[in-house]
Amino acid sequence: MQYHAANTDSLMYITNRPDLVFERGEGSWLYDHNGKAYLDFIQGWAVNCLGHCPPEIAAALSAQATTLINPSPAFYNAPMVELAGLLTGHSCFDRVFFANTGAEANEGAIKLARKWGRINKKGAHQIITFDHSFHGRTLATMSASGKAGWDTLYAPQVPGFPKAIYNDIASVEALIGPDTVAVMLEPVQGEGGVIPAAPEFLKALRELTRANGMLLIVDEVQSGMGRTGKLFAYQHAGIEPDIMTLGKGIGGGVPLSALLAREEVCCFEAGDQGGTYNGNPLMTAVGVAVIKRLLAPGFLDQVEATGKYLSASLIKLVEKHQLKGERGSGMLRALILDDERAPQIVAKALALSPNGLLLNAPRANLLRFMPSLTVTNDEIDQMCSLLDGLLAR
Ligand SMILES: *Cc1c(COP(=O)(O)O)cnc(C)c1O
Repeated sequence: MQYHAANTDSLMYITNRPDLVFERGEGSWLYDHNGKAYLDFIQGWAVNCLGHCPPEIAAALSAQATTLINPSPAFYNAPMVELAGLLTGHSCFDRVFFANTGAEANEGAIKLARKWGRINKKGAHQIITFDHSFHGRTLATMSASGKAGWDTLYAPQVPGFPKAIYNDIASVEALIGPDTVAVMLEPVQGEGGVIPAAPEFLKALRELTRANGMLLIVDEVQSGMGRTGKLFAYQHAGIEPDIMTLGKGIGGGVPLSALLAREEVCCFEAGDQGGTYNGNPLMTAVGVAVIKRLLAPGFLDQVEATGKYLSASLIKLVEKHQLKGERGSGMLRALILDDERAPQIVAKALALSPNGLLLNAPRANLLRFMPSLTVTNDEIDQMCSLLDGLLAR
């Protein structure tokens, strides 16, 4: 059924979208223009960490909207200051720069590392990144990403991002030269197929970068903000990186991201970095509401427990349907099929009735699960029962 065909024709084509319009969301459920309900295990792409339209975000937005929306990035505002303090108070970092998207936070991390290299490492500017990594869709972050085909799409690339092999420390060591300033990685590769870095690999990277006077940058745009059961995924490995970026979950659905760094690394001078909307109180007020909920007693324990339940439930499907396996960290998980039918399963899940199911297939043999951190065991059971039917041959 065509919904306002003229309206959708006015949108620039960038991807194939189903012919329906979502109108309303609540918790783990989305509702389309026909009133059909969908159980949402995508949640805005691991963004809505508290589900759809959580009361604390609605309250923060409406209170801030009637107080102060944007005094300009040239001035401090109260939510920006409060959120920065909450982030530094619960991480190993000393300072925060706010931005709007994950890619923009990563651009900031790249600039900070290059500036630091110019001052402290004779102009070293290369940042080692990884095959199959994803850091965003700006030219520099696409160049940093290890996604197949992205080296030629929009060529020429931004130079300076040699690619190592994930979880292979020797491949990193082999790329280090006089021009290398940093290593940047996702503690869990999300778009690459939900592949966690081994804690020993992260520890070895920390030692290697330290021994070579290099920076370690973690892109926690997807893995941060409670997604893996700890506030930040690097904490599982017991390491302290130099720079971290956050996005997605930090805004709980609104555009907010952050670049965090240790004091010694903070070398921006006036005019080096900025942006019109950066740190605006409307978005940072939401960030405050989100992180306060994540830090509430028992919340992260609950995420860890629910992540284990999701994992165990997926393992049951693996056994029943003789699939390849299940992997992930906390509430970012993937089911590895024994064939290439993940895209068909995603399409069939959407079309289920009376209730649809929203899933994602980052690869043809892989289904990814990134529900709200507040998803219930009952909702996981509902999802698995729908998926069980779709997996049956
Ligand atoms: C989504 C993502 C990004 C890009 O974030 P945008 O907000 O889409 O710019 C960067 N890094 C990782 C690890 C991501 O998952």
